[in-house]
Amino acid sequence: MKILITGGAGFIGSALIRYIMSNSQDTVINIDKLTYAGNLQNLDSVSSNPRYFFRKIDICNKAALTNVFREFRPDRVMHLAAESHVDKSIDGPDEFIKTNILGTYALLEVSKEYIKSLDKDSKENFRFHHISTDEVYGDLGFTNLLFTEESSYSPSSPYSASKASSDHLVRAWHRTFNLPILITNCSNNYGPFHFPEKLIPITILNALKGQNIPVYGKGDQIRDWLYVDDHASALYKVIKDGAIGETYNIGGNNEIKNIDIVTSICNYLDKAMPISKNNYLLDGKSTIKSYKDLITFVNDRPGHDLRYAIDASKINVELGWEPRYDFQTGIEKTIKWYLNNLEWVENINNESYKNYRHQE
Ligand code: NAD
Repeated sequence: MKILITGGAGFIGSALIRYIMSNSQDTVINIDKLTYAGNLQNLDSVSSNPRYFFRKIDICNKAALTNVFREFRPDRVMHLAAESHVDKSIDGPDEFIKTNILGTYALLEVSKEYIKSLDKDSKENFRFHHISTDEVYGDLGFTNLLFTEESSYSPSSPYSASKASSDHLVRAWHRTFNLPILITNCSNNYGPFHFPEKLIPITILNALKGQNIPVYGKGDQIRDWLYVDDHASALYKVIKDGAIGETYNIGGNNEIKNIDIVTSICNYLDKAMPISKNNYLLDGKSTIKSYKDLITFVNDRPGHDLRYAIDASKINVELGWEPRYDFQTGIEKTIKWYLNNLEWVENINNESYKNYRHQE
């Protein structure tokens, strides 16, 4: 297959490309604008593979997208490019509206025109897979409910509202124009190459540097965490075997409170990198006894959802997918990766990293 992936230089997109390169003979065309969150270093391990191609393109640019479709003639589109950080969407929603809504619209239009040029077999073979989030469903609050594919949409933040809008556009292009689409809505991901503006990498890195570890409110928010390689395997399963027009929820069945995540990372680091041996600690903070002493509760995010949780039984029953990593295994792999790749973090030297040391 020739798979065109948008946003392949980001956290999940790069994991997906590494997964496809290792587990198939498919060709990948990665198109990415390389915003602050896009990093070609995430793809060093595949960049010289003759089955991998990269084009620096903004998905809002229809002419550039059309040229790439003409050049590579993809069988599949996997659309991950997005602005993805909730805090940033509260501070400045513009880019979220542009990329997540107008960019998705541009990609849908270009795909719609492209398939008109295909012969019957290629047309039947083509798929457009839109990668979305469980945040479109809103807040489960203090309930035991789970999000299913039938849950109604009730997004809370500019980020989740822009993703919800893009999901609606994708469904409308299926219903109205017969575009052969698939949608996946996934829970919170974690793992290597996660940009250090999100909860887990911030906690690891701030701890190692002896800096305060910010936790919103009391840290009571509950998320369902999925190791990023499990998300990649689910996405590949869906693009290969998913049924046209269907939505699949993807989750790790790992509901954990933010404060428990932060505490478990600190506990692990206390053993793996005892403070007395941590040469990375800055400005005299080495007087602390445990990394937990760095936890600092900060004012909660406006509109912060309390709980998300996914029912992933449909993708399990219909496509036979299940996650490989439990949270303990995944988080240990992630922490070890950061300990061994501090250079990757040091190479990220942009304003966004400095300004957005928040969460999720
Ligand atoms: P990310 O922010 O790490 O990466 C986004 C990528 O998109 C970057 O490489 C960036 O350069 C690129 N991009 C942004 N605007 C672009 C534009 N206009 N044109 C082309 N490229 C552009 O995000 P991520 O965490 O890897 O998330 C990928 C997708 O998965 C997003 O659609 C997100 O909504 C969805 N998702 C993420 C999570 C999560 O926990 N991170 C969970 C569920 C779903």
